[in-house]
Amino acid sequence: MPRPSRRRGFSLPEDCLFCRLYNEGDHVRAADGFVAIKDINPRADVHLLVIPERHVEGFREIGAFEPEEAKRMLQFVAETASEAGLEDYRVVVNVGEGAGQTIFHLHWHVLGGRAAGLP
Ligand code: AMP
Ligand code: ZN
Repeated sequence: MPRPSRRRGFSLPEDCLFCRLYNEGDHVRAADGFVAIKDINPRADVHLLVIPERHVEGFREIGAFEPEEAKRMLQFVAETASEAGLEDYRVVVNVGEGAGQTIFHLHWHVLGGRAAGLP
């Protein structure tokens, strides 16, 4: 159990929205350890979020994933875009509040089609 931090934006898994959505959300697709959901506030024709089961605050903590797990996560991002019918698309990770991160559980935005700005 990580020691609670006073850093703004820190959320423990028990009160983490994406931990909850991983377990009981409406999943577009799922594989061992990863799910994809539709973004509730889409910024593009297709706007999906890939969420790993493992709760880490964000991309800075990418080292918490085993190499094989990190590879499977990236593969899952690519497959999610492909299964959504996207050939050309953007993958975005907002890292930190200053970059627009609002949910402190690592997630990958997959954006395709006409886009209306960054997520
Ligand atoms: P970020 O700002 O990079 O942390 O991305 C968080 C994303 O989660 C935003 O694009 C939100 O629109 C999206 N979001 C927030 N709540 C929900 C929800 N309940 N279901 C799906 N997406 C959500
Ligand atoms: Zn979480």
